[in-house]
Amino acid sequence: MSQSSKNASRLVALRDNPRAQVLVIGGGINGIATYRDLALQGVDVVLVEKNDFCSGASAASSHMIHGGVRYLENGEIRLVKESLQERNRLLWAAPHYVKPLKTTMPIFSIFSGLLSAPIRLFTHSSGKPKERGAFLIKVGLTLYDTFGRNGGTMPRHRFLGKKKSMAEMPSLNKDVKFTATYYDAAMDNPERLALDVLFDGDAAGNNSRSFNYVSASAMSNGKTVLTDELTGEKIEFTADVVVNTTGPWTDLTNQALGYQTQYMGGTKGSHIVLDNQELFKACDNREIFFENRDGRIVLMYPILGKVLVGTTDIPHDMNVPAVCTDEEVDYFFKLVAYVFPHIRIDKDQIVFKYSGVRPLAASGDINPGVVSRDYRIVRTSSESEVPVLSLVGGKWTTFRALGEHLSSEILKLLGVTRVISTEKLPIGGGKDFPTTEEGQKAWAKEHGSVIGEARAQQLLLRYGTSAKGVIDYIAKTSEKMLVHSPTFSDAEIEYLVKNESVYHLEDLVNRRTNLAFTGSINTAVLQELAEIMSKVLGWDSSTSSSEVSGVTLEIGSRK
Ligand SMILES: Cc1cc2nc3c(=O)[nH]c(=O)nc-3n(C[C@H](O)[C@H](O)[C@H](O)COP(=O)(O)OP(=O)(O)OC[C@H]3O[C@@H](n4cnc5c(N)ncnc54)[C@H](O)[C@@H]3O)c2cc1C
Repeated sequence: MSQSSKNASRLVALRDNPRAQVLVIGGGINGIATYRDLALQGVDVVLVEKNDFCSGASAASSHMIHGGVRYLENGEIRLVKESLQERNRLLWAAPHYVKPLKTTMPIFSIFSGLLSAPIRLFTHSSGKPKERGAFLIKVGLTLYDTFGRNGGTMPRHRFLGKKKSMAEMPSLNKDVKFTATYYDAAMDNPERLALDVLFDGDAAGNNSRSFNYVSASAMSNGKTVLTDELTGEKIEFTADVVVNTTGPWTDLTNQALGYQTQYMGGTKGSHIVLDNQELFKACDNREIFFENRDGRIVLMYPILGKVLVGTTDIPHDMNVPAVCTDEEVDYFFKLVAYVFPHIRIDKDQIVFKYSGVRPLAASGDINPGVVSRDYRIVRTSSESEVPVLSLVGGKWTTFRALGEHLSSEILKLLGVTRVISTEKLPIGGGKDFPTTEEGQKAWAKEHGSVIGEARAQQLLLRYGTSAKGVIDYIAKTSEKMLVHSPTFSDAEIEYLVKNESVYHLEDLVNRRTNLAFTGSINTAVLQELAEIMSKVLGWDSSTSSSEVSGVTLEIGSRK
C-alpha cells in the first residue's frame, strides 16, 4: 500500500463515526490518563494529539516519579501526600518502567533558609529561595517519611556527617557538611509508560479511539474541527463534552476553539544527557538532588548508562519553540562542577539535549521555582454551550489520580456512574511483571522457546510483559538483528511501526525506543531504521532521506 493510501486509511474510524461522548484534546500523559479512565468506564471517548503521543511536556521531564520534597516548603502538603501515594502505586502498577531511586542531597550549610522557608510554608509568600540548611532538610524529610513509607517498604531517610559522606562518595565537593539520603522513584522510559497507559485505554470498552497527528484546530457551531496534520484533511467532530488537556498549549488551544483564556504561565526547563563514565560512577547509583549556588534545586543521576543533568526554570512564550540554549548548558556544567569539582566533563560528551515547558498556572511575577505544581480543572465554556473543560497544571507523577479526578468531573456532566477505579489496576506490560531476576529468567524460559531465552528476557525488560506481542510477531516472521543497532531486530521494528502508530522516524527513535536519549543514533542507524519503515509505510526514497535528515539530537516543544 502506498504512503498516501495508508495516510487516508488511518482516520477511517474517525471519519466514519465523527462523534463521541467525550473528545480529549492533547495526548500527553494527562490527556492519556483521562482517556484511559473514561474508556474503562465504558464511555465513548476519542483522543486526538497534534504531534506524536507524549511528545510535549511529558517528553521533557526529569523522569522522576516523586513526592516533591521541595514542595513542602511551599506549603503544598496535599500535593506531596497525593504524589507520594501515586509514586507508591506506580512502583506496584508499572514496575517494568518505574523503579525506586535512591536520592542523596549534599548539604553545604547547617541553618540557612531557616527563616525564609518556614515563612513560605505558612504564608505561601513568593520570596526567592535561599540556601536550605541541614536543619530544614531534616524537617522536610521527616515529613516525607511520614507520608511516603508505603507501609514500611520504602526505607527511612538517613543523615551522614562529612566523614561518612566522603567515604561513601569520595568525589564529592569537600565543602560538604552532611548528606541526606532518602528514596523516591524514577522512570527510565516515560514515553513507553505513556504508550502503555494509552494502549490500556484503546483496549478498554468498545468505543475508545486515539489518534496522533490530529489537532483540534477550531470550533464551529458546537462542533470541533479536527485537522489531520499529515494530510491537511478536516473533519467536523461532535462531542457531548470536550476536554482540553494540551498542557502548556492550553491557552493556545482554547484560542483556536474561540475562547480567550489566560490560565497558563509555564516555565521552560532543559536537560542534557552526558556520556561520562567517571561521573556515572561518582553518582554511585543514586540521584544527586541538591541546591545549586543560586538557590535552585537541580539534579543529576545515572540512567540507562548515561548521566541526566537538569534543570532550569525560565518563563517562556508558547509561541516560540523551547530549546536548550548554550547558557543552559554552561549552567549545567557549573552545577556538576559544584558537586564533583574534580570530574572533567566535556561538551563532546553530550549525547542528547531536551527542553520543554511545564504546564503551570499563571501566577503573576512570583519566582518560577515556587509556582505551584498542583492542578485544577476549569469550565471554559458557558453553561449554555457544549461543555469545554480545561486542565491547568498536573505533574507526571500524579497522572493516574488526575485522570481519575478529571474523568469523574466529566462523568458528572454525562450523568454516567463510575464503574471502576484505576487505583489497583496494573499498567500495560506491568501486569504480572516479574520483579526478581529469578522470575524474569523463568518468564523468558516460558516465552523464549522460538526466539531464545536471552532475547525473550531482553524484550521483557524493554516492554514488560507486553513483550509477548512482540515475541509472537517475531516467532511468526523470524528476525535479523540490525547491523547498526544490534539490540533491535528488523521484525521488532516492523512490529512497532505496524502496531504503535509510528509515522515519522523521530517517533521511533525518540518515543518507541530510547535510541536518541542514549545517544545511540547516527546516520547509518537512521538509514537502517528508515529502510524498514519505508517497507511498512510505503515511503519513497525522497521521503526516507528527508526523515533521516529531519532527526535531531534535541527535542523541544513545538508550536
Ligand atoms: C523540565 C521539566 C521537568 C519536569 N520534571 C518532572 C518530574 O521529574 N516529575 C514529574 O512528575 N513531573 C515533571 N515535570 C512535569 C510534567 O512533565 C508535566 O507536567 C506533564 O508531563 C504534563 O503533561 P500534560 O499531558 O498535561 O501536557 P503535555 O505532555 O504537554 O501534553 C499536551 C499535548 O497536547 C498536544 N497539543 C497541543 N495543542 C494541541 C491541539 N490543538 N490539538 C491536539 N493536541 C494538541 C501537544 O502536542 C502535547 O503533546 C517536568 C516538566 C518539565 C518541563
